[in-house]
Amino acid sequence: MNLSYWEIKSWLTNIDYTIVGSGIVGLNCALQLKKRFPKATILVLEKGMLPQGASTKNAGFACFGSLSEIIDDLKTHTKEEVFQLVKKRIDGLQVLRSTLGDTNINYQQLGGYELFSKTDDLFEKCYSKTDDINQLLYPLFNDEVFSFKTNAFGFENCHERLSFNQFEGQIDTGMMMNTLIQKVYDSGIKILNNITVEQFSEATNSVKVKTNAFECSTSKLLIATNGFASGLGISEVKPARAQVLITKPIQDLHIKGTFHLDQGYYYFRNIDNRILFGGGRNLDFKGEETTAFGQTERIQNELEHLLKSTILPNTTFEIDQRWSGIMGVGQQKKPVVKQLSNHVYCGVRLGGMGVAIGSLIGQELADLVHA
Ligand SMILES: Cc1cc2nc3c(=O)[nH]c(=O)nc-3n(C[C@H](O)[C@H](O)[C@H](O)COP(=O)(O)OP(=O)(O)OC[C@H]3O[C@@H](n4cnc5c(N)ncnc54)[C@H](O)[C@@H]3O)c2cc1C
Repeated sequence: MNLSYWEIKSWLTNIDYTIVGSGIVGLNCALQLKKRFPKATILVLEKGMLPQGASTKNAGFACFGSLSEIIDDLKTHTKEEVFQLVKKRIDGLQVLRSTLGDTNINYQQLGGYELFSKTDDLFEKCYSKTDDINQLLYPLFNDEVFSFKTNAFGFENCHERLSFNQFEGQIDTGMMMNTLIQKVYDSGIKILNNITVEQFSEATNSVKVKTNAFECSTSKLLIATNGFASGLGISEVKPARAQVLITKPIQDLHIKGTFHLDQGYYYFRNIDNRILFGGGRNLDFKGEETTAFGQTERIQNELEHLLKSTILPNTTFEIDQRWSGIMGVGQQKKPVVKQLSNHVYCGVRLGGMGVAIGSLIGQELADLVHA
């Protein structure tokens, strides 16, 4: 790229911290570094025109685990571990809300529901363990998290009782990211879009960074590329594409809240009198292990089928838009937040909970750096 003296001097010289990726994690990392080191020069490099992974593509559930998910986690984790997992999501949501403000992200606590199939015994299993789970989580809210409600939404092909989480909320994902990006700019942090970091190498006191457009040098490099992390050599993370659709506005839509279906493999919510519906990765785990955006007929057909048969059986609706996002997953649910080499760090593998934990993980990534 043909860069001028001015461009090099003002944007690409004496960089203290370079962050790769402008999702929730990268931007919160940048803000936390600025808080710790107000005089530092901080540069964020982002391959997309906008953040282009999961942070602008997600469903905007401000959730910390459905009843069946928490019960399932107890099969592989101790009670204390599950408690800490949930606590982290609640703490993370608190950081998100206090950093950006509820009005700026349109946070609404409309509650979260879980639908159960009629054809298996998941309802009975969850129902019988509800008291135990409420007891486990009691110290976090001083109240009972889960109760049961009868299906007042007209859902079909599901159990007549739904579990209800009174503390689950939802946000407007676009407002959240817009506010976050603005806050980063206002703090004097630079973001360069359409820049892909291709390689980096450690020098004695710095890191050399090669992008698709230029090369530069930085004192520290922080990688927040989540589902794309293997592209920069972080092998613990696999990409996981998640497909979504949204209906056109529906008159008198009475479905309000966030909803989990089929043990969290499907999720839907109301937004602007529409239903946003996503999931179905379990239909083709291998095929969805990709960093390529796109939709498949198989998953989109199943989403439409469930919308017609279960969620909106007696309502005429039209699909307005379809899209996908790329998450980062791995063997364990815990994110990878660690130092990779002398001057390089990463905060990746956020799974399907990045709205909840992303702000906190960004701060933790920044706090790995020594002054
Ligand atoms: C469809 C969908 C629905 C979801 N729903 C929810 C939900 O309801 N609630 C919830 O809590 N979570 C949800 N999630 C998960 C959540 O969105 C993510 O966990 C979170 O956004 C991850 O943030 P991040 O900053 O780690 O990653 P990302 O937002 O993916 O950011 C990584 C950034 O790095 C950039 N990048 C990658 N490689 C390079 C490179 N080499 N050079 C430069 N830039 C690069 C990417 O373009 C991207 O912008 C959902 C995810 C998806 C896809």
